[in-house]
Amino acid sequence: MARLDLEALHRDMTAWRRDLHAHPEFGFEEKRTAAFVAGKLREFGLDVAEGIGGTGVVGTLTRGSGNRAIALRADMDALRIAEQGTQAWRSQTPGTMHACGHDGHTSMLLGAAKLLAGEGDFDGTVRFIFQPAEEWGRGALAMLDDGLLERFPFEEIFGLHNMPGLPVGHFETRSGPVMSAEDNFEIVLKGLGGHAARPHAGQETLVAACALVVNLQTIVSRRLSPADIGVVSVTELITDGTRNALPGMARILGDCRSFRPEVSAAIEKEMRRIGEGTAQAYNVEAEITYTREFVPLINDAALVDEALAAARTVLADDTVRVAADDAVRVAADDAVRVAAEPMTASEDFARFLDHVPGCFVFMGNGDTAPLHNPAYDFNDEGLLHGARFHAAVVRRRLAVG
Ligand SMILES: [Zn+2]
Ligand SMILES: [Zn+2]
Repeated sequence: MARLDLEALHRDMTAWRRDLHAHPEFGFEEKRTAAFVAGKLREFGLDVAEGIGGTGVVGTLTRGSGNRAIALRADMDALRIAEQGTQAWRSQTPGTMHACGHDGHTSMLLGAAKLLAGEGDFDGTVRFIFQPAEEWGRGALAMLDDGLLERFPFEEIFGLHNMPGLPVGHFETRSGPVMSAEDNFEIVLKGLGGHAARPHAGQETLVAACALVVNLQTIVSRRLSPADIGVVSVTELITDGTRNALPGMARILGDCRSFRPEVSAAIEKEMRRIGEGTAQAYNVEAEITYTREFVPLINDAALVDEALAAARTVLADDTVRVAADDAVRVAADDAVRVAAEPMTASEDFARFLDHVPGCFVFMGNGDTAPLHNPAYDFNDEGLLHGARFHAAVVRRRLAVG
């Protein structure tokens, strides 16, 4: 088959990315985005299914006679953050923006679909999965609950996320734990509010809450093994007190991260013990709610090797196309690395890995604002690398012959 003009593909992806950026949609509200994705996939000749798990889209492309199937996944949702950027393609929806680069992820997977549909070069079936609602960790489950694996079976899955601070054209990942579980908690202390001058007459909750915030810090420092990674962060403390009235209610909210279910369970158990014990010591009541929002993301070791090898072929082809502008030549071996440490951020991609092995990689976004920052913008220079990485994974895993 004829080779696609990569410069033209890069221009197409840039236009798609900026269009998506200007029209961000929050999780499960990605109607315009999903229609955009489905329209492009049909244009490239894929079989398309819409409305999977709400607004999810699945494109299927088959070549040759192989019976293996692999999946590539992108996320489509934006965040409720007011954009500060002034670029021509800035968000046209006040209070909502693509601050995590999912506009870029979607465009790169569309680019890979166009590339693979046009060039072939593989034997088997590729599922292009565009999931809703990654940011609040519900979209992958919604698609799985809607029969994703039964209706569009695949044996392994690959995904990527852009990473500000990592140079454009660089790829990084590791085997085993890559991103953490996220648990959320709320502890409500209940007592009896009253006059600020007469604390002994009531059961005020603020001193108890302050003690509890400090006590919770002993979970990681004194209850977890030093060999385990865990984070317990109190992020909010709210009371119903006022300047001259002691609060009868105090709410403590926060967020915990871990990489093993046993650690998550231990954090919850200790939190309940310390929460109830501290409340009792201060003569108030504690109501504790602990929820699990994201599971840890665990990469398959063999597929990490495959993904890194695919990333190296992308760079070996043309030694980082975009870097030529800067007169910087980056050798593929320097640009594709095994990350030393897992990250304590979380990713909904992990839900797919509960069912099939796979690999999630990070791709350089260059020197941009951080993820979830109001000044963030996906770096279009990386679009071609991402699309070609996806295509290279398919050509390795569904190799002809
Ligand atoms: Zn995000
Ligand atoms: Zn993201």
